[in-house]
Amino acid sequence: MSQPPTRRRVLGLAAATAAAVPLAQLATPSYAAPSAPPPTWAVHPFPLGQVSLGEGVFRRKRDLMLDYARSYPADRILAVFRANAGLDTRGARPPGGWETADGNLRGHYGGHFLTLLAQAYADTRESALKTKLDYLVTALGECQQAFAEHGSPRPSHPGYLAAYPETQFILLESYTTYPTIWAPYYTCHKIMRGLLDAHTLGGNQQALRIASAMGDWVHSRLGRLPKAQLERMWSIYIAGEYGGMNEVLADLYALTGRSEHLAAARCFDNTALLDACAADRDVLDGRHANQHIPQFTGYVRLFDHTGEERYAEAARNFWGMVVGPRTYSLGGTGEGEMFRARNAVAATLDDRNAETCATYNMLKLTRQLFFHAPDPAHMDYYERGLTNHILASRRDTPSTSSPEVTYFVGMGPGVVREYDNTGTCCGGTGTENHTKYQDSIYFRSADGNALYVNLHLASTLRWPERGLVVEQTSTYPYEGVRTLTFREGGGRLDLKLRIPSWATTGVTVTVNGVRQRVEAVPGSYLTLNRDWRAGDRVALSTPYRLRIERALDDPTVQSLFYGPVLLVAQSPATTFRAFSFYKDFTLRGELADAVRPEGRPLHFTTHGLTLAPFHLADDTRYHAYFRRSEPVVVFGTTDSGVPNRARDDGRTFLDVLWEQAPFASSDAFVRAVRALADTWLSEGLFTALERDRVVAAAASLGR
Ligand SMILES: [Zn+2]
Repeated sequence: MSQPPTRRRVLGLAAATAAAVPLAQLATPSYAAPSAPPPTWAVHPFPLGQVSLGEGVFRRKRDLMLDYARSYPADRILAVFRANAGLDTRGARPPGGWETADGNLRGHYGGHFLTLLAQAYADTRESALKTKLDYLVTALGECQQAFAEHGSPRPSHPGYLAAYPETQFILLESYTTYPTIWAPYYTCHKIMRGLLDAHTLGGNQQALRIASAMGDWVHSRLGRLPKAQLERMWSIYIAGEYGGMNEVLADLYALTGRSEHLAAARCFDNTALLDACAADRDVLDGRHANQHIPQFTGYVRLFDHTGEERYAEAARNFWGMVVGPRTYSLGGTGEGEMFRARNAVAATLDDRNAETCATYNMLKLTRQLFFHAPDPAHMDYYERGLTNHILASRRDTPSTSSPEVTYFVGMGPGVVREYDNTGTCCGGTGTENHTKYQDSIYFRSADGNALYVNLHLASTLRWPERGLVVEQTSTYPYEGVRTLTFREGGGRLDLKLRIPSWATTGVTVTVNGVRQRVEAVPGSYLTLNRDWRAGDRVALSTPYRLRIERALDDPTVQSLFYGPVLLVAQSPATTFRAFSFYKDFTLRGELADAVRPEGRPLHFTTHGLTLAPFHLADDTRYHAYFRRSEPVVVFGTTDSGVPNRARDDGRTFLDVLWEQAPFASSDAFVRAVRALADTWLSEGLFTALERDRVVAAAASLGR
């Protein structure tokens, strides 16, 4: 195994391959219009600027981040780049966190800040945001130019742009590990992504030229390396973390058409994991979650350009290994940044769960998969992660100096959210999260004949190709009622309304006040095909119910939801709170019998504790999971004294009984108890005496 080169040798290597081509002579992209969605997509998103958020909690969180975008000084973002290029930093200090004068990840935050500004501008069209964005791009162009001309050491190619010398990239090629280097291509991805967003969302042409030159540089470095060397580089923990380099290079290729950019994207194939996932072999245990999630988004984009099915297959299978088997109730994944064993949910609850970046990236992957095959399960997950993790990740207080977002979000008992994260990964993705809430509310079919309404967020869609303006009014996440109004335009269109998987009772749909005789299946799209006219109104009601979700590895560890909204119990205790609900149930068998409204919207009370919606982001200690304790078969005030034994799947007698609710009468209830007690007897879970005592306890209720 080769030794890592000394610093002297690294400098010599860099000098030997130093820039020979003037930046101005690099290939310029042949065209610069935002690329059309690929033909592989069945569903297309709407540009950010065509959907505007209405009043509500999402918009308030966005506004907090817009204030940060407007206020944070561009020169502070640029300081690390200018210092590296030997340019005047104008007295500005780097932002801090990991974004410091000598930090080995410096520059990443600037990439996120470009995306923040680009998204904010696309949404608001505020000229000051555009001016700031253009200022950053111009300055980064100056840094790229200066570094090519007299960087020290000179870069290997004039397209190089970073806030540190090329040394980290060179050292990675001899398998140098963290913390000697950090994650050079991760940083590169953030900068390139920010530049592409400045171009596609902010209309900045120079940003594409800078990114294109960076793509040329990446190709010049990696295109010459043997596959085995690349594979080994990407297998290194942290140092080999490259974010979504394959995604951003594929996106760049879509804009430039330059084969070098697609070839560079394919240099990032992490083949061992790619092949395992393509074969649906789950090898995620112990891997760094956020290192790998964006790789799969890149594979989806590579499928778009190459047609190689294994890329798409791997991404689909990977998604299924995370969503469900490794997802906490808020939609986040990972413990201490790592994927843990499949189904290890209750076993991994602590104060370091659910890195916020991981959910940011899972939502990106989910969107990409949905574009190819619009499976409502994808949007069920998207809603969960957006409503209960992303929305909950921004503290509800203003700040112009910090993004005030979370890193880990603990799921253990009595933990607290910590915010800020200036200069960290989650600080960077956090600024993006809250300025693109509108990006997945609506999608359209590729042929333009269907409109998917995925999320309940109050918003207005402008669809100029169809001459349509559609307004959605709702108080989401506060209740499951929304109205869609065709404000302008019309015509024949499939309106595809998502019926969430949690909407299991009483869903109604009206068009212009007339109840529609349609079957609303939870976890599906309900299609209304009509010749729509301006003024048409569609009302969808998906009533919320209190419900529990069980941890896969311990069904007694549970979370409480009200519709889509995760409710957390407020308590500083650091052990699981024990809740029992069945003793309070009436014949309707609803959790509402045991969990009472507190008075404030989405607030409840049980066992003397307040339950609050998790998106209220403050410093209160909380319990996202509790321990369900139903040790004895009890009906109301009647205690049978019989243990509430469980089957092998963890379902207890009372669980199975109350799943049959509501009961039409006391007699129906007693019949159900008798039948189930007989079953428990036949399965060896009750003795005959216990069966009789349980039935007698139920029968005594009606007297
Ligand atoms: Zn992070």
